[in-house]
Amino acid sequence: MLIKGATLLTFPQGLTGEADVKVKGGLIQKIGRGLRSESCQTVDASGCILAPGLVEMHAHLREPGMEYKEDIASGSRAAACGGYSAVFCMPNTEPPIDNSSVAEYVFDRGEDEGLCMVLPHGAVTQGRQGKALAPMGEMGTCRAGVKGFSDDGSPVADSEIMRRAMEYARTFDALIISHSEEPSLSAGGQMNEGFNSTFLGLRGIPPESERIGVFRDICLAEKTGARLHLAHLSTAGSVDLVRDAKRRGLPVTCEVATHHFTLDDSGLLGYDTNLKMNPPLRSKEDVAALLEALADGTIDVIATDHAPHAPHEKETEFDKAEFGCVGLETSLGLVLTRLVGEGVLSLADAIAKMTVAPARLMSMERWGYLPAIEEGLAANLVIFDPDAEWTVDAAALKSRSRNTPYDGWRLRGKVRHTIFRGNLVVEDGELALVGDAVAAQARPGGNGARKKKQDERLKTTG
Ligand SMILES: [Zn+2]
Repeated sequence: MLIKGATLLTFPQGLTGEADVKVKGGLIQKIGRGLRSESCQTVDASGCILAPGLVEMHAHLREPGMEYKEDIASGSRAAACGGYSAVFCMPNTEPPIDNSSVAEYVFDRGEDEGLCMVLPHGAVTQGRQGKALAPMGEMGTCRAGVKGFSDDGSPVADSEIMRRAMEYARTFDALIISHSEEPSLSAGGQMNEGFNSTFLGLRGIPPESERIGVFRDICLAEKTGARLHLAHLSTAGSVDLVRDAKRRGLPVTCEVATHHFTLDDSGLLGYDTNLKMNPPLRSKEDVAALLEALADGTIDVIATDHAPHAPHEKETEFDKAEFGCVGLETSLGLVLTRLVGEGVLSLADAIAKMTVAPARLMSMERWGYLPAIEEGLAANLVIFDPDAEWTVDAAALKSRSRNTPYDGWRLRGKVRHTIFRGNLVVEDGELALVGDAVAAQARPGGNGARKKKQDERLKTTG
């Protein structure tokens, strides 16, 4: 494959100008100007940016157990169309990813699909019940090589359990990913506590719920020396705590989800359940603080917290609706429009928070996965047009679920092609079926004999 005329964005160099890139045998074979194509596939990338494939650190792919919302096949397709080459998925599945057999099942299903790497995070506690530690070491050494641990969806409410989890994680340099929430403050909450929740008559979740959780986990990270990553931060108070922890040299990092810097709680005045999140959309002042924390480097990673839900779980009374929205297919457009387009971050800094930063935190070099464009590296690449304007169409999403708050939004910046392990998996914004994916699609009902075998194994062991 020959990619012609792209502007290269790689790390640590940043934008390095226009070049052609030749891909062969899954690897970047040659980078140069005026490369000739002889009988190979040519991808016209003029006017486009060629960057390392994006890395999602926080997605819910729902398999095993909630395949009516999403499964690893549909989630992989959504990820590839969003420009992702690797997706870390959260363990709040059914059964949860709290042992090596479920972790390996998820990992293998991702490999079967072959559209991006699917890498599971493991649960911190057994069954995500918050009572006894899960076998983190076993998950760490299994085929899925789990490196991040989280009970995401719920906080680890018991501070003693969290302390022991950090002590355990530290022994094999694993990352504790905290869903920070003080449940006694957030219980029954539907949205951010403030003027708008009072106006709507909905029970609020005060910002202090998250801030107290963040403070506790920073204290425990300081005590134990464990690496702590704070997921989906939404408040000014939280990012202030992280800024201070970093200043003191603690091993603390954090992420923001795309919806938390593009939306605020005033949008809920129409009771749109697609805006119901946990943590909730916050005030305009909180959004401003998140933008500042992105710009000054306090926030390391931009994630989506992709959370697919079926229509019956969203098209219901506000207090009964599930929390979360899908995000894999809109994140790059939102980042380019709202962060790069409005001067919050340079293009290179924004893409770094979606590639090198999560890859480094998750030690992806273990997989030989390096988000850079260099001869000899695996060709995991995204080609996007930073100037293309498009309208988000919920009905056209590749995810099984359509719960996006961005339907109808005009965005500037669009994924054209995604290349995974040297295969063009997305071509002109549409899935290009390759290899195993072709075979899987051709089989009625999807995913073939290997999945059946794994289903049986899961039943007997998981
Ligand atoms: Zn969470």
